[in-house]
Amino acid sequence: MQTALLASTHLNDVIVTATLSLSTAGPTFTGLRCKECGQPYEAGARHVCEDVCFGPLEVVYDYEAIKSRVSRATIEAGPASIWRYREFLPIAGDPIDVGTGFTPLLKANNLAKRLGLKSLYIKNDGVNMPTLSFKDRVVSVALTRARELGFKTVSCASTGNLANSTAAIAAHAGLDCCVFIPSDLELGKVLGTLIYNPTLMAVKGNYDQVNRLCSEVANTYGWGFVNINLRPYYSEGSKTLGYEVIEQLGWELPDHIVAPLASGSLFTKIRKGFDEFIKCGLVDEKAVRFSGAQAEGCNPIATAFREGRDFITPVKPNTIAKSIAIGNPADGPYAIDIANRTGGNITDVTDAEIIDGIKLLAETEGVFTETAGGTTIAVLKKLVEQGKINPEERTVAYITGNGLKTTEAVVDHIGQPYTIEAQLDSFNAAWQQAQAAQAG
Ligand SMILES: *Cc1c(COP(=O)(O)O)cnc(C)c1O
Ligand SMILES: [Zn+2]
Repeated sequence: MQTALLASTHLNDVIVTATLSLSTAGPTFTGLRCKECGQPYEAGARHVCEDVCFGPLEVVYDYEAIKSRVSRATIEAGPASIWRYREFLPIAGDPIDVGTGFTPLLKANNLAKRLGLKSLYIKNDGVNMPTLSFKDRVVSVALTRARELGFKTVSCASTGNLANSTAAIAAHAGLDCCVFIPSDLELGKVLGTLIYNPTLMAVKGNYDQVNRLCSEVANTYGWGFVNINLRPYYSEGSKTLGYEVIEQLGWELPDHIVAPLASGSLFTKIRKGFDEFIKCGLVDEKAVRFSGAQAEGCNPIATAFREGRDFITPVKPNTIAKSIAIGNPADGPYAIDIANRTGGNITDVTDAEIIDGIKLLAETEGVFTETAGGTTIAVLKKLVEQGKINPEERTVAYITGNGLKTTEAVVDHIGQPYTIEAQLDSFNAAWQQAQAAQAG
């Protein structure tokens, strides 16, 4: 009896040890699944539910395995990058590590005061690595997975920042790279891609036309397109914008977030990041309101939200906020659902308001953002003025890109330098002029 008991305990020990060592080694993701009908798929390079309903595919995780491996302490002991959350990301082996993530969460007291808010934070992905936008997160994950899946050439359909990230991180990883952009992009975005020496295709058309072309290229050339056939992995990278804010708020959720919407992916994945940390016991559950920002010149999601629709009517973009100018946004319906269910809002602002938003953030907080960030700040201001953000709410505004890439947008709306001789009297005269200008 006693021997039998010992033997079975011993057996249990062996089993427990075996399970533990398994759970500290293998990947935490188990495959893909259709977001609409639940059909499972293997974790390959695919993004739509080809067998059943053509819905989008999502990565599936073993949350019990994640819970058994991860705690606040293990995360805090990790690197100061998105890879401190690697158990929540769909990679099997070593990451391509270019230092992406863990960008500053700035307490924005001056801007808060100006807007009449009590507690405002700026999540500043304008200083992300390596290419100064939030896209470095999604590309770090997508290219790591692309390499695991054996792709030699990687690509993307981009509104600008994605091309920068894909070209840079492909260069670092030694992958061949061919990227596609609309031909009318800002110089900073074009130059910020070409410097890494990829093949760059500037397509005469808007983003939605570029994207359609890329779907055809993906089918014919067998390349890894980060936001097409690798989209389920790519989009998971945005969850880290949720995790980081929780951690940087001292392991608490905010009350309200405001983020820009292009395809709507980023917005939905911040929500998924919050939900996963709740599910894994890393943060206390709390209702967070989700509000989204679009430009009036490309506002298909804001329009549908305003009209109480859950389907998107595509538009033809015409705005200075080129990085978020997607006329037919794939995740629009999901973004609307989240805004509705959390008591948030989705609204739009004019190009003039976007420029004012860029200047307001720069002048109050010393943060120079691109047009997408200007959109977010202008929408934040509008929602406060409309009483749709409560002054008491702890609010986080997501700044997703850097202003030095879209200088065209503001160059005619800022001051001029005083050009002077290298002599004191020349300075004296200019300084008097400057003071007079400031007084008037
Ligand atoms: C791509 C992008 C976004 C949003 O992208 P989604 O398609 O909605 O995930 C926001 N801001 C900037 C600067 C971007 O480049
Ligand atoms: Zn399906």
